[in-house]
Amino acid sequence: MNEFAVIDRWFAARTFRAAGTVRGIGDDAALLQVPPGELLAVTTDTLVEGVHFFPDDAAADIGWKALAVNLSDLAAMAAEPRWAFLALTLPEVDATWLDGFCAGFFELAGCFGVELAGGDTTCGPLSVTVQALGLVPAEAALGRDRARVGDDIYLTGRLGLAGLALEDARHASAWADAEACRRLRRPEPRVAVAMGLRKLAHGCIDVSDGLVADLGHVLAASGVGGVVHYQALPLSPATLRYLDATGNWAMPLCCGDDYELCFTAPATVRGEVEALAAHTGVALTRIGTIEPQPGLRVLRQGRVMELERTGYRHFE
Ligand code: ADP
Ligand code: MG
Repeated sequence: MNEFAVIDRWFAARTFRAAGTVRGIGDDAALLQVPPGELLAVTTDTLVEGVHFFPDDAAADIGWKALAVNLSDLAAMAAEPRWAFLALTLPEVDATWLDGFCAGFFELAGCFGVELAGGDTTCGPLSVTVQALGLVPAEAALGRDRARVGDDIYLTGRLGLAGLALEDARHASAWADAEACRRLRRPEPRVAVAMGLRKLAHGCIDVSDGLVADLGHVLAASGVGGVVHYQALPLSPATLRYLDATGNWAMPLCCGDDYELCFTAPATVRGEVEALAAHTGVALTRIGTIEPQPGLRVLRQGRVMELERTGYRHFE
């Protein structure tokens, strides 16, 4: 089976049309219509075997996650996802693996009406690159550089779930419950929250490399600092059991892969943020405040924590 048969059977046949697609899969390039007054948000992320997933991970989870991490980046900009492109390098044509991969990928794509509008298929060591495109009204885009002194700092969902599951994978322990395992395998891009944040938030980022690292990017880009209160962090019962037993307090702050949104908003919109949490069913927890003094201070039991590891860095 050659690449064209693979494209036809697994990708061209399964995708559907999104509004604004003039030409999707099948030509040399896709042609996409951007409505007047809107900006095209474009992002890409690669998953490499051994770095972002384990060789024996379920193909459906890899398909889901490859798209999810990109939709999470769009959410951080408050862009509504519309199209995806998939560059897939496969060691061989394994029909079972491709069926699984597509089941996960298209399940998530269907949740948000995302069209797979093109890609590339090659033979080599397994690697999955997805590019996602979304739309945002020009004045509504969020960014890392918009946090202002006095803003509240918020986090969606729960922190440290993926990290707990990763601890188990690395040390053959058993701290993670079903919620933590699911978070690592199938992160949920916070698209609905992001749409509601268009009118409320100032700074925003998705937490892929750990809260300390990613909130640090927001603070640096905005030219401000901030304080986070450890006891305010949204931690799950399983994470709390792990922390009590190990004293590894830095884990939820420094682990990556949660794909929650960290955003800042003025204190005047606290009521609206609460209403957005109720409307979306996603917890929005106030964890700290933006301050003029540069740097991030995490306070635990009245003291500033010493945090050494600041997120995953490639090439280190
Ligand atoms: P070209 O040789 O012009 O680059 P290809 O033969 O690579 O085109 O791809 C043919 C068509 O199939 C193009 O529209 C391309 O975007 C699409 N395509 C290729 N691989 C994938 C894939 N993995 N998923 C979705 N579309 C793909
Ligand atoms: Mg061509």
